[in-house]
Amino acid sequence: MKISFIGLGNMGGPMAANLAGAGHTVTGYDMAAPAPEGVTMAESSAAAAKGAEVVITMLPNGAILRSVAAEVIPAMDPGAILLDCSTVDVDSARAVAEMAAESGCSALDAPVSGGIGGAAAGTLTFMVGGSEDALARAMPLFEVMGGRTVHCGPSGNGQAAKICNNMILGATMAVTCEAFALADKLGLDRQAMYDVASTSSGQSWSLTTYCPAPGVGPQSPSDNDYKPGFAAELMQKDLGLALQAAEAVDSPTPLGTEALRQYAQFVDEENGRGKDFSALLPRLAARGR
Ligand code: NAD
Repeated sequence: MKISFIGLGNMGGPMAANLAGAGHTVTGYDMAAPAPEGVTMAESSAAAAKGAEVVITMLPNGAILRSVAAEVIPAMDPGAILLDCSTVDVDSARAVAEMAAESGCSALDAPVSGGIGGAAAGTLTFMVGGSEDALARAMPLFEVMGGRTVHCGPSGNGQAAKICNNMILGATMAVTCEAFALADKLGLDRQAMYDVASTSSGQSWSLTTYCPAPGVGPQSPSDNDYKPGFAAELMQKDLGLALQAAEAVDSPTPLGTEALRQYAQFVDEENGRGKDFSALLPRLAARGR
């Protein structure tokens, strides 16, 4: 297929390289990032989008997505698909889908889980909002870039799934870190705490797959001095998107709100930027008597 890929950073770069490696013709554009292997670079996002069957975007936030979409959609052929893989607010995803529909194009919001490792290995999970027809046409591309694709409903529902999932993740990681810090202060060995909780009702992905305590459980960023992994500021961003959406539909999120407060304090006031999101544990363990 003829593909345009806009936003070739940590995630977009390897995703575009995988598509080129699978035999697709990929034209890319990025304000700063270099060309990934096999990708021909264009002068602008509109130039990259011309003649493409699918235009993929992988950008930092909803405001940038909206401005790129405003440039790109008028340049797209009618019937082409705008496939956004960024994590953005639900409103931006729905606004971009409307802009695309007004131009006779289709749009899919398809945020990912799996991080930089998943992007490089082609094993991302895609959560997709948009029509069944557009999803079916884009499926060969999802199959190159990912291992699993879940259709979540109409436009915006992919982003809704992503932020709900990451709100669970943020809150469970925060409380898992609290539990390890409490165990320390109660004189309970971290390994013993892990052995009990990982096979009891306190079990979660944050504990058993991504344990925040170094030397306990499987290898995780805690074993690499809390280098990300998934950076604390990205969790802060995703919790902010979840709470923005919750406010718009008047849905209470007391634990999500507290998790965001913890991450905001860590990132903005305690040098947490650039550390893994599981680094709440050393921060809590250092506190108190
Ligand atoms: P990144 O900052 O490495 O890449 C973003 C790229 O967009 C940069 O290369 C930047 O130059 C480019 N860009 C910005 N404005 C542009 C414009 N107007 N036109 C063209 N290019 C522009 O970020 P990333 O880690 O690749 O993340 C991208 C998206 O994926 C974000 O929405 C993020 O939340 C989401 N995400 C990231 C991860 C992760 O682990 N990094 C995991 C899941 C989802």
